[in-house]
Amino acid sequence: MKSKINSSVLILFVLSFMLTSCYEKSPKKETPKEVRWVTESVEYIGICKQTYAMAWDRVRSTAESTNGPWAVVLDVDETVLNNAQYEIELHQKGETFSSQSWTAWVERRDATAIPGVKQFLDNVRSLGENAFVVFITNRDAHHEKATIDNLIKEQLWHDGDVILCRKEKSDTKQIRRNEIIEASGRCAGLPKKQIIALFGDNLKDFYEVDGTAGLTKIKDAAMQDSRWGTKFFVLPNPMYGSWVDAYK
Ligand SMILES: [Mg+2]
Repeated sequence: MKSKINSSVLILFVLSFMLTSCYEKSPKKETPKEVRWVTESVEYIGICKQTYAMAWDRVRSTAESTNGPWAVVLDVDETVLNNAQYEIELHQKGETFSSQSWTAWVERRDATAIPGVKQFLDNVRSLGENAFVVFITNRDAHHEKATIDNLIKEQLWHDGDVILCRKEKSDTKQIRRNEIIEASGRCAGLPKKQIIALFGDNLKDFYEVDGTAGLTKIKDAAMQDSRWGTKFFVLPNPMYGSWVDAYK
């Protein structure tokens, strides 16, 4: 009997030792590489600055040969505002994206400016009364005030800028781009504008993606589409995007 108890105690001891050593050896959860690349790498800063610097050259020359009002259209998240801190906090809490945590993050107004964007926007606004800055974002309409506040905090918003948030799921970015061009809907009363440059981290910031067939068409044409780098300017976002789910 005594030896049975002894062996049970021994087994328990060995098991608890194994569990403790496993726990101690398991590495601390690290921030995912794609998030670290955004927050820690110099390459990320370089690509963002490079994109906005090259875009400025192009926008300046296109504006010179454009008659009447024109606009540069920018997405917000990961194009103008950096939300890597939200991603870090999600990871620390072991959570994935939820509209609840996203709303709390947006309301904090803590997103930071993407490298190079402030200088670019200041330059664009220096080009006179025909120059307009328009933000088209899939942040919900009820996030508009917090978004403008955050843009103001980062010195990215000026009087005369336009922001078009998403009213509902069917309110695509293409619908909103058309409102800018035609001065219709939310842009009624504003001057009609030519869009001379688009900025985004997601294909849908540039194109309407019409299902799988539409995506294939865009993909097949992408290599020949000369608008990349002349009218379309992409910011890097390895953290998330509609590419993850084939742009559905
Ligand atoms: Mg975005």
